[in-house]
Amino acid sequence: MFTDYTGKRQQMVRQQLIERGIHDSRVIEAFRKVPRHLFLDEALWPQAYDDHPLPIGEKQTISQPYIVALMTEALQLTGKERILEVGTGSGYQAAILAELADEVYSIERIPPLAKRARKVLDSLKYANIIIRIGDGTNGLKEFSPYDGIVTTAAAPDAPDPLLQQLGVGGKLIIPIGDEYTQDLKMYVKEAEDTYREESLGGCRFVKLIGEHGWK
Ligand code: SAH
Repeated sequence: MFTDYTGKRQQMVRQQLIERGIHDSRVIEAFRKVPRHLFLDEALWPQAYDDHPLPIGEKQTISQPYIVALMTEALQLTGKERILEVGTGSGYQAAILAELADEVYSIERIPPLAKRARKVLDSLKYANIIIRIGDGTNGLKEFSPYDGIVTTAAAPDAPDPLLQQLGVGGKLIIPIGDEYTQDLKMYVKEAEDTYREESLGGCRFVKLIGEHGWK
């Protein structure tokens, strides 16, 4: 039976985002638009708009909607930015970012996830997202500097290459902590080699595995 999940999506936006303080109208519009269920296996569609992460295969998860919104809102996007996402996963956050920024680069270490994300994003006609397979803890120097970098997996420390690949004024959003609990951090590059650090609250992500993450 055909269900488009529009009602569930609008309810998610109201109850999980707006009522918890997400207020950037462009961010809210993007969440109203992007069909989150299409980034999941069909068996999970009925849960796609629920208030928790969900499995996407390969022992990875799509983040809870609120966390995606919190990370995205922190970037304060206007539509002109070049953004790097580390951890493509399902491709959902890449789609949200592509609604709000000019160019999105996303890097994923697990090839089947990257391939599936590409397929969904193509079917939804996102032309401003480039996906690469590789270790995102090294960033993606080729297209740097970035106005923003979002890392959707947790690291012990902010990887140096990511800090270096930010332009001045750019922001790195990344969960920092151990395997079980982390603090969502934002590093703002105020000048070459000068960063201001802020905490956006507690969170729990899968591990960032790579040269400048967990081994
Ligand atoms: N943003 C994703 C969430 C994915 S979960 C979404 O919207 O669905 C985090 C992802 O980070 C996983 O797919 C995992 O494979 C990936 N990952 C972990 N370490 C990585 C690394 N060093 N480089 C690139 N991707 C990595």
